[in-house]
Amino acid sequence: MSYIDKIFPNPLPTVEELEAKYKRRDLPDGAKVTRVAPSPTGFMHIGGIYTALICERVAHQSNGVFFLRIEDTDTKREVEGATELICSSLANYDIIPDEGFDAFGNEIGSYAPYKQSARKEIYQAYIKQMLLDGRAYPCFATTEELEKLHHDQEISGARPGYYGRWAKYRDSPVEKIEEKLDAGVPFVIRFKSHGSYDNKIVIQDGLKGKINFPENDLDIVIMKSDGLPTYHFAHVIDDYLMGTTHVIRGDEWLSSLPLHIQLFKAMGFKAPKYTHIAPIQKMDGDSRRKLSKRHDPEADVRYYDTVGYPRVAVIEYLLNLVNSNFEDWRRNNQTKSYKDFPVSLNKLSPSGALFDFVKLNNISKEIISKMTTDEIYSAVYDWAKKNDSNLLALMDSNSDYIKAILSIERTGAKNARKDIAKYSDVPAEIEYFFDEKFAISDEMKNEIRSIKNYREIVNAYIPMFNENDSKDIWFGKMIDLASKFNFAKNGKEYKANPESFNGDISTLVKIFRILITGKTQTPDLSEIQHVMGKDRVLSRLNFVNEI
Ligand code: GLU
Repeated sequence: MSYIDKIFPNPLPTVEELEAKYKRRDLPDGAKVTRVAPSPTGFMHIGGIYTALICERVAHQSNGVFFLRIEDTDTKREVEGATELICSSLANYDIIPDEGFDAFGNEIGSYAPYKQSARKEIYQAYIKQMLLDGRAYPCFATTEELEKLHHDQEISGARPGYYGRWAKYRDSPVEKIEEKLDAGVPFVIRFKSHGSYDNKIVIQDGLKGKINFPENDLDIVIMKSDGLPTYHFAHVIDDYLMGTTHVIRGDEWLSSLPLHIQLFKAMGFKAPKYTHIAPIQKMDGDSRRKLSKRHDPEADVRYYDTVGYPRVAVIEYLLNLVNSNFEDWRRNNQTKSYKDFPVSLNKLSPSGALFDFVKLNNISKEIISKMTTDEIYSAVYDWAKKNDSNLLALMDSNSDYIKAILSIERTGAKNARKDIAKYSDVPAEIEYFFDEKFAISDEMKNEIRSIKNYREIVNAYIPMFNENDSKDIWFGKMIDLASKFNFAKNGKEYKANPESFNGDISTLVKIFRILITGKTQTPDLSEIQHVMGKDRVLSRLNFVNEI
């Protein structure tokens, strides 16, 4: 029995059998096969959705295939429920893999299994072949030996790592290997690199262009002592067998690229095209840094649901980060699906996109402004069910009133209201319609008091108030009051001659706005009066006598 049989005593498929089973894909010209390959660590970073979106768009806009592979060879980092979180997050954002796992975690596709822990035999079959070909070897180095190696390298100023003359078990005689195996000494399998650090190689990256690297000479671990492969090795086998044509991934993997390319070559496989993308960053004072899981709530995909951004707003925002020309495209193609936008890998920012809430909010406001009343009502209702029991109770007992509130400046409005960026903004936009939640702060009262003749103005309006006035008729009444109480009809008139007026029309309207809503900024006041109804508005107007 050879030492290789001692390492793999159980029958394994042969490399030929595996290649026959996982056929090369038959795809139209130019079709790209991409994948996302997250590790199930229990956290879905918004950057993961960003990368997945790019991969999915690149594949589908080329009539190719997009698949999801779960990279769970690091069992220590695995968290229960994490795979389900990955599957449901992708589905929530309409990033639907053709193969891998569906929204509920069911496996789909003919290159299964798509979870690395279930592919142990496949990796072992290739590792066995590498041992037979002399491209890998068992390494029995103990932790102490590795520590000593590290120490010796430090003292002698050598580059750290397991390579060349430092690779003690690289050329062990077979008898020695068998002895150790027979004694049950734990081992890993290492790749036998033929590279030299002094050789410079050039690799083409899809975004960063040609990059110079020293050739890899590290004998990296390809199989751990638990029999599972390392990521480096597993992804080579998987991307080969699954027919990946384009690997698009975070640039934290860029430094591993020479190794990955070398592994593909050593296996006799054609390497896919690699594109390394910079992570999403944010400004922290004057400097940029990565969006961090620990410091930034917006790094977690769940955050967007919790505060109530429509998911399509998040996706459109991400597309805007992917390609900055998305914004122009959207302006010129208002009714098209974002899926019609051609994502271009070479228009990505090589230094990383900057996360910006103002932009996200603007995109989201635009999307929410286009919803019909029924659409926004049901989206807010679904959000409240999970996130805001007070709002839910209010909606349950006042559904028609709240629909009327949400319809203000919505359907058919010339300038649709754009004050709601996320569903958690809604309570502040509807609460003042309810007497029990309405109040005028001292600051707002002072604002009213600072306007000349405020009491007379309101008392003059009360007899002419009609809650059914159209916007124009209502505004006509405001103009009448303005001329009566010496307010300019518009800002221009006021600015030309400020001393001769008590203010301009917007100052005059502000008295009414604060009295009726408690705020200085609201949607159209005539519509608000109409929705609130006569009694409620009159009682609020009459309150002017108590200010
Ligand atoms: N499992 C790796 C990760 O979690 C995937 C890297 C790749 O896409 O090749 O980042």
